Amino acid sequence: MKIGFIGLGNMGAPMAANLFSAGHDVTGFDPAASVPEGVDKATSAPEAVIDCDVVITMLPNGEILRSVADEIIPSMRKGSVFLDCSTVDVESARAVAKQAEAEGLLAVDAPVSGGVGGATAGTLTFMAGGSEEAFAIVKALFDVMGQKAVHCGESGAGQSAKICNNMILGVTMIATCEAFALADKLGLDRQKMFDVVSTSSGYSWTMNAYCPAPGVGPKSPADNDYKPGFASELMLKDLRLSQQAAEAVDADTPMGQAAMDLYSTFVEQEGGKGTDFSAMLPRFEKRHRS
Ligand code: NAD
Repeated sequence: MKIGFIGLGNMGAPMAANLFSAGHDVTGFDPAASVPEGVDKATSAPEAVIDCDVVITMLPNGEILRSVADEIIPSMRKGSVFLDCSTVDVESARAVAKQAEAEGLLAVDAPVSGGVGGATAGTLTFMAGGSEEAFAIVKALFDVMGQKAVHCGESGAGQSAKICNNMILGVTMIATCEAFALADKLGLDRQKMFDVVSTSSGYSWTMNAYCPAPGVGPKSPADNDYKPGFASELMLKDLRLSQQAAEAVDADTPMGQAAMDLYSTFVEQEGGKGTDFSAMLPRFEKRHRS
């Protein structure tokens, strides 16, 4: 396929490189980042999308996505697909899809899980929203960039699935970290704590696969001085998106709210920016009840 790729940052660059390696004709644009080897460089976003079958965006947030959409939609070929893989608010995803469809394009929102490691290895998970027809066209690209793609429903459904998943992830990481800090103060050995919880009803992905305690469980960012991994500020971004969505549909999400407040304090006041989101454990370690 002829593919335009807008946003070649930490995630976009390896995704575009994998599409090129699989034999696709890829043209990329990013005002700041360099273009990976094999990808043709465009001098503007509208230039990158000319005659493309699919245009992929991998951008920081909904506001930037909306402005890029305004720029590129008029230059996209009728019948081509606007595939946004950024993590953005549900409303922006739906608005951009509506705008694209009004101009005779197809649209898919497909945020990813798997981070930079998954983007590089081509093992991302895609959660997609859009029509069956649009999903069927981009499925072959998901197979190159990832290992799994779930068609979740209409436009916005991919973003909805992503923020619900990450709300669970943020809440669970905090619960795992505070339980380790409590266990420490009770004099319980961390390895014993892991051995019990990872095979008991408190088990979770954060305990079993991404343990926040160094030297315990499989290798994780905790074993690399809490270098991300998945940065605390990205977790905060996703928790904010989930609360924004909860507010819009009047859903009661007290644990998601508490997780957002904690990550916000951690990132903005306690030096957590730039650390992995599992660095909540050393944070709790240092703290007292009041
Ligand atoms: P990044 O900041 O490394 O990359 C974003 C790129 O977009 C930058 O290179 C920037 O120059 C470019 N950009 C900004 N404005 C632009 C514009 N107007 N036109 C074209 N390009 C523009 O971020 P990232 O880590 O690659 O993340 C991208 C998206 O993927 C985000 O929505 C993020 O939430 C999501 N995500 C990231 C991870 C991760 O682990 N990094 C994991 C899952 C999802």
